[in-house]
Amino acid sequence: MLWLTGLSGAGKSTLSHALRDTLAAERPVEILDGDEVRTYLSAGLGFSKEDRDTNVRRIGFVARLLARTGAAAVTAAISPYAATREEVRSLAERDGVPFVEVFVSAPVATLAERDVKGLYRKALAGELTRFTGVSDPYEPPARPDVVVRTDVETVEESARRILDHLRGRGLLRGAAAGTAEVAAS
Ligand code: ADP
Repeated sequence: MLWLTGLSGAGKSTLSHALRDTLAAERPVEILDGDEVRTYLSAGLGFSKEDRDTNVRRIGFVARLLARTGAAAVTAAISPYAATREEVRSLAERDGVPFVEVFVSAPVATLAERDVKGLYRKALAGELTRFTGVSDPYEPPARPDVVVRTDVETVEESARRILDHLRGRGLLRGAAAGTAEVAAS
């Protein structure tokens, strides 16, 4: 189970898709994307702490079922509360499912500049309550397995660092990422 956590626009969704092909060479891959989950699995939930935790527990539950069958379950949801992420980790590990927490990190200033969905402008103007990182809490992981700094790394660099970690843990066998591209460039 590859758990990407970070603020909106930090790059979770982009990275999950960037990783897909490499992971898929070895096992089936399913991506649980925060926005899609809120449409299908968690429709009706809001943004209170309780609802956010329920959302994360549901994602964790589905990811665990997938991972137990041998699939790579990649989650791309803000998942703002550290204790809830830890809860998901311990349930996964109890089932023998490795849990890899990736902190997809970038400062709010960068995200506001990117403003992929136009939400930071609204949140910073005070028009959005409960917007993570601006008007709602985000608890960064204290000991993430991987940290990617998407304000200074390219998508390819961040993806490669995650894949290298998976190889180091013995969770991915394939040749080092980027070898072919480096050789070709
Ligand atoms: P999230 O899923 O975390 O809300 P998105 O993946 O939708 O964020 O958006 C991230 C944006 O940041 C994209 O436009 C992406 O191209 C850009 N970006 C820049 N550098 C990186 C990086 N190193 N990793 C991931 N995304 C990056």
